[in-house]
Amino acid sequence: MEKRIAILPGDGVGKEVSRGAVTILQAVAELFNHKFHFTYGEIGGAAIDEFGTPLPERTLNLCKASDAVLLGAVGGPKWDLMPGHIRPEKGLLKIRKELGLYANVRPVQYYSSISGISPLRKEVVEGVDMVVVRELTGGLYFGKPSERSVQKGEASVVDTLFYQKNEIERVIRYAFELAAMRKGKVTSVDKANVLESSRMWRETAEEVAKDYPDVQLNHMLVDNAAMQLIKNPRQFDVLVTENMFGDILSDEASVLTGSLGMLPSASVSASGPYLYEPIHGSAPDIAGMNAANPIAMILSAAMMLRLSFGLEEEAEAIENAVEQVLDAGSRTRDIALFGTPFLTTEGMIEEIKAAL
Ligand code: ATP
Ligand code: MG
Repeated sequence: MEKRIAILPGDGVGKEVSRGAVTILQAVAELFNHKFHFTYGEIGGAAIDEFGTPLPERTLNLCKASDAVLLGAVGGPKWDLMPGHIRPEKGLLKIRKELGLYANVRPVQYYSSISGISPLRKEVVEGVDMVVVRELTGGLYFGKPSERSVQKGEASVVDTLFYQKNEIERVIRYAFELAAMRKGKVTSVDKANVLESSRMWRETAEEVAKDYPDVQLNHMLVDNAAMQLIKNPRQFDVLVTENMFGDILSDEASVLTGSLGMLPSASVSASGPYLYEPIHGSAPDIAGMNAANPIAMILSAAMMLRLSFGLEEEAEAIENAVEQVLDAGSRTRDIALFGTPFLTTEGMIEEIKAAL
């Protein structure tokens, strides 16, 4: 198979962990006889420094001409005082919009060998295997108007939670497709006792469910979902929800089983390319120190092979290699128990490559 992959390392540890993903993908290409063409583009602070904008045209065109995009992380204290429109994070928001990435998909999986780093008791998190699907391009974060005004000396403010029905439907349908390939259970999270948008969300979920007789649908209010995630996370298979609820719940879900440095994500669109990135940020406190955990990025590359290219065996080979090195006791600092030895970023990449 021959594929073009855009690599956007971005800032901070994004650069270090991107190298890891490329190393592992090159090894996969050799092992399974594929040709992956890597082309590099700037995004975030790195792009601001070089081009004066967080998402240069060149980068966007490169992504559109590729079969998939791998992104490291953007941002860092160096750019914190930049004016709003040239903040590194704007690059990320813009690329999501431009590529039409309507759903963010975060698998959360339990690794028995690093159970000690979960904030929850082993009995609660053992066996957790779920996916959070967050709507990414609509809802409260993009609705208009979103503004402040002053009338008769009284300041007021408005944000708008706006959805078109088709935007709700496509993300819920994605969740059902995913659940049909997994444990056959969709939990749709809303606030239908208060919000009109949630009532439409709930109705739409019921309609989509009719097309998937083998998938079980249940509804959960978002406040209850926040509680159930830490009380009994094993009950979930695929959780789907609107943009802001998903922002909050996906971060909550991501810490159930371990470190930010462990978890991958995919953002999907109607016609591709999809974008894959670790859920962590640029980790400025450890950037450039060869200390970051590359596993989240490497597992993002595995997700890419599975979802964008249909290379299931290759994806599993990477996931198995990661599990093998963890089982053998290899750790980066973020997943090492206090006082125990740990590897550098490069060291971990080499071990995973060897296991592969
Ligand atoms: P963003 O706003 O970009 O999401 P953030 O403020 O959520 O960023 P991160 O950059 O993700 O923060 O870092 C949060 C903490 O997690 C930091 O202490 C960082 O060192 C740690 N961290 C993040 N990614 C990794 C990684 N890959 N390996 C080890 N530690 C990490
Ligand atoms: Mg964050």
